[in-house]
Amino acid sequence: MQHELDEIRAAGLYKTERVICSPQRAEIEVAGRKVLNFCANNYLGLSDNKRLVEAAKRAMDERGYGMSSVRFICGCQDMHKELEKAISNYFGTEDTILYAACFDANGGVFEPLFTEQDAIISDALNHASIIDGVRLCKAVRYRYANADMADLEECLKKAQAQRFRIICTDGVFSMDGNAAPLDKIVELAEKYDAMVMVDECHSAGVLGKTGRGITELYDLRGKVEILTGTLGKAFGGAVGGFTTGKKEIIDMLRQRSRPYLFSNSLPPAVVGAGIEMFKMLEESDALHDKLVENVEYFRTKMMAAGFDIKPTQSAICAVMLYDAKLSQDMAAKLQEEGVFVTGFYYPVVPKGQARIRVQVSAGHEREHLDRCIAAFVKVGKELGVLK
Ligand SMILES: *Cc1c(COP(=O)(O)O)cnc(C)c1O
Repeated sequence: MQHELDEIRAAGLYKTERVICSPQRAEIEVAGRKVLNFCANNYLGLSDNKRLVEAAKRAMDERGYGMSSVRFICGCQDMHKELEKAISNYFGTEDTILYAACFDANGGVFEPLFTEQDAIISDALNHASIIDGVRLCKAVRYRYANADMADLEECLKKAQAQRFRIICTDGVFSMDGNAAPLDKIVELAEKYDAMVMVDECHSAGVLGKTGRGITELYDLRGKVEILTGTLGKAFGGAVGGFTTGKKEIIDMLRQRSRPYLFSNSLPPAVVGAGIEMFKMLEESDALHDKLVENVEYFRTKMMAAGFDIKPTQSAICAVMLYDAKLSQDMAAKLQEEGVFVTGFYYPVVPKGQARIRVQVSAGHEREHLDRCIAAFVKVGKELGVLK
């Protein structure tokens, strides 16, 4: 293992953790220094929200610290049911089942529903947890190129041999920030008698006129059979996952989904804060409006400065640099300038497509965005990215 670890290091792929000594928010403390955070999934700026912290404390006072059980033995409180209702209400779906994380929701969604008689048709850029979930299931597997509808149609034609078919996609792909073409996917699903599953992790709270996710964006609320999502990104950033959709599917998952049956219930603090969070989002769309405004402002200013930014439909802005070393040098220099971002290169993104991924948040104030843009311009000029 030491040998292999050395090889990982030599290849420049060794991951180290940057230790934050403050709450997660727009401005964080790292190694005794204040830096601006532009690489959290804190899309609505709720990670450090006072109202959620209070709700979590209240829930602990009223319902204790832990559940010490899986759901079906004695791990379900009234609050868990209330949170599931709030999620169904938010997405316009029939029923919801909670998991410890979306990794578990995706890991436990395929195996109970599909057998070797069925087909799973998956976007090539889907999240690791979908890939793992598919691996745990005996269904026949098809893979189509990212958001490529002609390729998807070919897969659907081949999959007519199977009993049931399901198309699986991320709502927003995390490296480019593009949204899945769900309108066309649903059209093809109808034409070829398939179901649809969307992972809303990066799209919930972000896409659509009021942030209700990809089904709002395409006017398909309640029309997609299965949505999975996380409470760990836009929805407060703590932990927890869910699957929401058709009631028969959710019912079946409660009977047979292994991460649900054999893993502990979410703790009261997380559940109580989750309920409060959906209450806040029902009361007002202001956070989502601010996020959209911030993304627009950031993109416009960065493009005006001369940066090459991928078109995005989300809060993810890929600043394209193409060269792997440049992406690392630039991220390091930005950190010296007090801006926390991450550079990505092959194999995380295709060869020659290195980039810095910037994640904008409703927690960013105009002044944070301006400081970030100024740092990009300064470093961009130093490294010859900008003229
Ligand atoms: C983050 C993410 C997950 C995992 O969510 P957790 O709740 O952190 O386990 C799953 N799918 C996608 C697309 C994600 O971005």
